[in-house]
Amino acid sequence: MTATRTLDALIVGAGLSGLYQLYRLRELGFTTRVLEAADGVGGTWYWNRYPGARCDVESMSYSYSFSPELEQEWTWTEKYPTQPEILGYVNHVADRFDLRRDITFNTRVTTAHYDEARRQWRVETDTGESIDSRYLIMATGCLSTSKLPEIPGLERFQGPTYHTGHWPHEGVDFSGMNVGVIGTGSSGIQSIPIFAEQAATLTVFQRTPNFSMPAGNRPLSEDEIAEMKANYRDWREAQRTSGFGVPVPLPTKSALEASEEERNAVYQAGWDKGNLVAILTAYTDSITDKASNDTAAEFVRRKIRETVTDPEVAETLCPTSYPFGTKRPCLDTGYYETFNKPHVSLVDLRKTPLVEMTERGVRTSEREYEFDAVVFATGFDAMTGTLGAIDIRGKGGVALKEKWAEGPRSYLGLTVAGFPNLFTITGPSSPSVLSNMIVSIEQHVDWVSDCLAYLRERGLAEIDATVEAEDAWVAHVEEVGNATLYPTADSWYMGSNVPGKPRVFMAYIGGVGVYRQLCDEIAAKGYEDFALEGALARA
Ligand code: FAD
Ligand code: NAP
Repeated sequence: MTATRTLDALIVGAGLSGLYQLYRLRELGFTTRVLEAADGVGGTWYWNRYPGARCDVESMSYSYSFSPELEQEWTWTEKYPTQPEILGYVNHVADRFDLRRDITFNTRVTTAHYDEARRQWRVETDTGESIDSRYLIMATGCLSTSKLPEIPGLERFQGPTYHTGHWPHEGVDFSGMNVGVIGTGSSGIQSIPIFAEQAATLTVFQRTPNFSMPAGNRPLSEDEIAEMKANYRDWREAQRTSGFGVPVPLPTKSALEASEEERNAVYQAGWDKGNLVAILTAYTDSITDKASNDTAAEFVRRKIRETVTDPEVAETLCPTSYPFGTKRPCLDTGYYETFNKPHVSLVDLRKTPLVEMTERGVRTSEREYEFDAVVFATGFDAMTGTLGAIDIRGKGGVALKEKWAEGPRSYLGLTVAGFPNLFTITGPSSPSVLSNMIVSIEQHVDWVSDCLAYLRERGLAEIDATVEAEDAWVAHVEEVGNATLYPTADSWYMGSNVPGKPRVFMAYIGGVGVYRQLCDEIAAKGYEDFALEGALARA
């Protein structure tokens, strides 16, 4: 392997995070390169091409805020943008800012070792390249390592299988086929109604039902586009200071202080708007008090019972084992209605668990189901899976995977003590997946960019979070998490979807605005809680 000259910063991943990070660092005059495993930009929106894939944050909010020109020239067509439209947007951004020339595609980072003497990272790739870089910025995504169901015989099935997170670019036509789908998270809920339109029969295997509500998607009118474009600056500020990166009015009272009538009117308003956050934050204690939360959960369950005609199927679709919102709720288009179609059936894996895949299909504890094709909508090894797949070693050769064996430990979800000059965009223990992610991405990228500029101005070569600061942050994240109902659910937020993964709440629920302020204060105080070392030795 040959190492080229030392870069200022190497960015891994060319999704929304990696592209903006490249833009910012280039603007600041750092030598920068991006490595990306895929053959194109877009990350999530490159990989997840299953039918029905869409963002459930409104398009005009799920877009970059860093360039007012970009905001004005790009026009979204629908309230909730489709995957192709978002991918088109990301490609537009890459071209508009001439980002591709610094991106190497089809290249997966396999190892990253910190060289303590030289205070820089040596990174190796699956294409045999070795790259030295002062800083290493992991823009590798929270939901970028897909997982299959943990059942024997996956290779035995004779028909085609698909994972929603690796959907074929040419698409799949299930017309006339008997199709099985395993998984009823957001990806399953978005795609199942479309599979049902095509397939001769569709069998949905559900382990845990999800709370979902109609997206109420529709084309955007010229007037609302013009209004948002005229008010973008104020809106962006409201996003940045909000709880979830989606501005909603702040609640003033407990759900239990409101009458049932009043509560239902409030929930109905959120339901009608297809606004998950509005329901999740309708009351001060919606996500902290079980009795309050139950009022929202019951509202959704009532809707399910009203929609699904077979009472037994309706009950199977009703989530009862965890509070509303503590597993990522979904927005759908005709999900529950799909189960009224005669050729669609639901298998409750709580009653009859999956046993294996066979040559012909799927076997549960009750029987074998035969299929022409099987879809795995089984999600991701979220938050830590992608970083864990890379051999990352910090000071003393300590592996990140070892350090995180009992759950991720980081300072601010941005840095890891003992892993100097390493940054994780939307890393575990930051608001990340509990927010409109593009808001959190921009905040992290801006913080990292400002930090690198600060170090350069002072001729410093190394930044490392102190163990004390990290310990305090981990404790704070846990404390804030434990004040909510989130840890009571078995969710991917808790690592519960991956057998053997430590059960830790992996996101910061303190709120996007509060978190931003904290990060800004730390920077303003000269990166207190970090050890800043060494004269910058330039090659
Ligand atoms: P990603 O988009 O995941 O990009 C990471 C990139 O890193 C990928 O391209 C990957 O190939 C690359 N990579 C990873 N490891 C390596 C390696 N070792 N070497 C080289 N390259 C590597 N968020 C919302 O806020 N609202 C939504 O409605 C929403 N919908 C979603 C729908 C789906 C189906 C999924 C999966 C996620 C959704 N998200 C949503 C979250 C979404 O992941 C983020 O909003 C955002 O796109 C993340 O961007 P990113 O650049 O940080 O990560
Ligand atoms: P997910 O939410 O983790 O759902 C995976 C589904 O597969 C769950 O129903 C899960 O059941 C089931 N499953 C997993 N392993 C299984 C096994 N061994 N046997 C049986 N069932 C199994 O994954 P996802 O739907 O891909 O969504 C992941 C995240 O991506 C979302 O939460 C969201 O943040 C984002 N996303 C957003 C949208 C959107 O609407 N904008 C769309 C797609 C994805 P259990 O619940 O029992 O584990």
